[in-house]
Amino acid sequence: MATEVKTTCPYCGVGCGVIATVGDDGGVGVKGDPDHPANFGRLCSKGSALAETLDLDGRLLYPEIDGERVDWDEALDRVAERFSRTIAEHGPDSVAFYVSGQLLTEDYYVANKLMKGFIGSGNIDTNSRLCMSSSVAGHRRAFGADTVPGCYEDLELADLVILTGSNLAWCHPVLYQRLAAAKAARPQMRVVVIDPRRTMTADIADLHLAIRPDGDVALFNGLFKHLAASAAVDHDYVSAHTSGFAEALSAAGTLDEATLAEATGLAISEVAAFFRLFETTERVVTCYSQGVNQSVAGTDKVNAIINCHLATGRIGRPGMGPFSLTGQPNAMGGREVGGLANMLAAHLDIEKAAHRDQVRRFWGAPALASKPGLKAVDMFRAVADGRIKAIWIMATNPVVSMPDADAVEAALKACPFVVVSDVLKETDTTRHAHMLLPSLGWGEKDGTVTNSERRISRQRGFLPPPGEARADWWQLAEVGHRMGFSGAFAYTSSSEIFAEHAGLSGFENFGRRDFDIGAHAEIDRPRYDELQPFQWPQPRGTESVTTRFFADGGFYHPDGRARFVAAASGVADRLSAAFPFTLNTGRVRDHWHTMTRTGKSPRLSAHIGEPFVEIHPRDAMELGLSPADLVALESPYGTAIVRALITERQARGNLFVPMHWSDQFAAKARIDALVPPITDPVSGQPASKNVAVSARRF
Ligand code: SF4
Repeated sequence: MATEVKTTCPYCGVGCGVIATVGDDGGVGVKGDPDHPANFGRLCSKGSALAETLDLDGRLLYPEIDGERVDWDEALDRVAERFSRTIAEHGPDSVAFYVSGQLLTEDYYVANKLMKGFIGSGNIDTNSRLCMSSSVAGHRRAFGADTVPGCYEDLELADLVILTGSNLAWCHPVLYQRLAAAKAARPQMRVVVIDPRRTMTADIADLHLAIRPDGDVALFNGLFKHLAASAAVDHDYVSAHTSGFAEALSAAGTLDEATLAEATGLAISEVAAFFRLFETTERVVTCYSQGVNQSVAGTDKVNAIINCHLATGRIGRPGMGPFSLTGQPNAMGGREVGGLANMLAAHLDIEKAAHRDQVRRFWGAPALASKPGLKAVDMFRAVADGRIKAIWIMATNPVVSMPDADAVEAALKACPFVVVSDVLKETDTTRHAHMLLPSLGWGEKDGTVTNSERRISRQRGFLPPPGEARADWWQLAEVGHRMGFSGAFAYTSSSEIFAEHAGLSGFENFGRRDFDIGAHAEIDRPRYDELQPFQWPQPRGTESVTTRFFADGGFYHPDGRARFVAAASGVADRLSAAFPFTLNTGRVRDHWHTMTRTGKSPRLSAHIGEPFVEIHPRDAMELGLSPADLVALESPYGTAIVRALITERQARGNLFVPMHWSDQFAAKARIDALVPPITDPVSGQPASKNVAVSARRF
């Protein structure tokens, strides 16, 4: 008889509930979970095709050292011995973990505990650095903690939804479906899309602002000034719950209409229409995603947006607030356990001695890291220059996805010891590993993930582990045990790790208002197996959760007030005669990251079969390009060759290339090889949306 298992989609940050059905013949079917509050039964094309990605073709099934199969004991002993020796000879900062928003929270928790608590280095960072670290930094600056003040329902309740730097239709499709359904039911709802490209999302927009790349801070600073000059500022809210209003307003500059039009690339009438909509609509949600985060001004963009919501008091009430859309299935869960090099665990701050002491005592940690570790771009620089001599990469493919990807590849080639835990044997990254460790994939592994609205859901296994694949947390715990930290890593189940994580979140902190899920600190395996999706926080002794924050203040800075942040408008223009085009990178509807999973589905590959560059017809004509011609794109960092897709959806002078294809799928298709290793100075997030390149017919 067929069995049904409730689990969670492993792709984007919407975090849809999935029901997997395993038939008597072993065949798997998937459908949306009608009871899951993220999707209420909906799935997008990627989620619906999950069953097509479960075959074992290309799977890494056994541990390998230098290409030879070994048993787990030998592999784990080797990892522990090489890491221990490297630390003994060169100190704890000579080793690093580079992990992933694909990991489950339990995997993330053990990785962070081993590196920050027992090895004694902050050198654990994650591909979530490339995804939402600017939002994390913006939230912490404004709110005093990394929290999302609202929930998905706000997009349905709002009268004005602003989508900035978000191709919601393709990157968070089920949320887009919810928004489209709400707009159809309430035609008076207005949608504004702010994006240099006319994406599919713009098709739902009442107003599409084809903004100049990185013009966002100027636009929202201009809006802030406009609101201050109008009757829209909620002075009671500002004086009761915030600080820094006057300073931030002054720093926003004197943007007259003509200057603002120049800075944003928009017509004065478009800017005025947007300002008027925001000014006159009470229920406003502003959603932002990678177009905001992946910038040298990413954190300032986030704060410029939040400033406008604080100024109007439009935060934490139904249908109102700034809303960060995370890209990955567990970017949020990774943040909760300290997966970023500059955070500790349970949203505690590695730079605060009291927080370090709290975590040290909870873990019984012998060598808690005393300072932040290296963020992703700096981490691979340190691999390249030899400061890091051993690195363990888990569930990610940095040779394709990191900026300056050719330099990352060269760094790994030269690194004395590279361990990769993955589900696939052949990726652009695994080919540079000295050791390969086989991990469990979706449908096999077991744990929790957190979506963009702070909702924790279970991923449940429904397939047997293939070959000798094992959970990532198990691999880390075994290495911790072999490095001499036995008692701290004696886990037998992911439920024990989740309980410990929940315990730490509420440790000596009863009544804490930001991240706390202490209510689950005593969870046992049966209750973990039955765990229903819930939003954090859920402190010990509580049963209901708070869906929204900050309607009545209560921010997490010591004085309980939010901070207005002065956001700098200017982003240097990097174009030159040699590199005259602005390259923007991003996702397509039916592929995920570096295609190691979606590339298995013929149905998904049928949507778009090869990498392309979107280019405006006038630019194409000047370059002598016809549709489907091969185009060579170059930056000072690398080269890619892709097909021309000539379309008026693309603004003149701008190009768009998807991030998914690697050299495995098409020759010279790793677009991140062109992206410079330039980052936001606050968040460390790379600027993948504004890259100066040249283009020519190949
Ligand atoms: Fe999965 Fe995201 Fe699609 Fe939902 S919207 S089914 S989480 S890819």
